[in-house]
Amino acid sequence: MKKILIIEDEMNIAELERDYFEINGFQAEIETNGETGTEKAINGSYDLIVLDLMLPGIDGFEVCRRIRAHQEIPILMVSARKDDIDKIRGLGLGADDYITKPFSPGELVARVKAHLARFERLTGSTKLTNTEVKIRGLHLDKLSHRVYLNGQEVDLTSKEFDLLALFASEPDRVFTKEELFEKVWGLDSIGDISTLTVHIRKIREKIESDPSNPQYIETIWGVGYRLRA
Ligand code: CA
Repeated sequence: MKKILIIEDEMNIAELERDYFEINGFQAEIETNGETGTEKAINGSYDLIVLDLMLPGIDGFEVCRRIRAHQEIPILMVSARKDDIDKIRGLGLGADDYITKPFSPGELVARVKAHLARFERLTGSTKLTNTEVKIRGLHLDKLSHRVYLNGQEVDLTSKEFDLLALFASEPDRVFTKEELFEKVWGLDSIGDISTLTVHIRKIREKIESDPSNPQYIETIWGVGYRLRA
């Protein structure tokens, strides 16, 4: 079930939105201020954020900027003022869409559905849920930390798993070696980037039928690697 986070301080509006999402088969949660909303959006596993612009504490502009620094999920901005819409566009905050109040709940749901569908097309993966990814014969379950290849469980170390899960979070996206190393081993880890190369080789030995001609983790020469969707 798709999970939506509503960041909105007006409780009656937030509840109306939530009810409509639930009627339409979504799961929805409400946060009423910018700080906690940002935190939840970044640390949670939501499929889309509905973000009100006028919030107590940090406003929707700043919330959008902060979420975008960490997450690429669709953000739908909500505003009561037409002027704000120009501002959202002008700032290039990375909001995916905007809707002005008052809007009909039906319109909101339709927009959300369209964005979820578009996002899925863009990421090119079959995200069964937030915790499972299936790419051809490869099946990754983040909750149980298990990986299956053509139905057979593959035994990965935790770093190998983290690495593969990172690739699987954005299939087809090219990650640089530095980026992968930073994200999996942590910014302050003292290490050698060749550790990464070793791990990639190990994963390939486990999931590729021919590790010298990989069908999953591809080397993009001079750039990095990607998991082919
Ligand atoms: Ca508000």
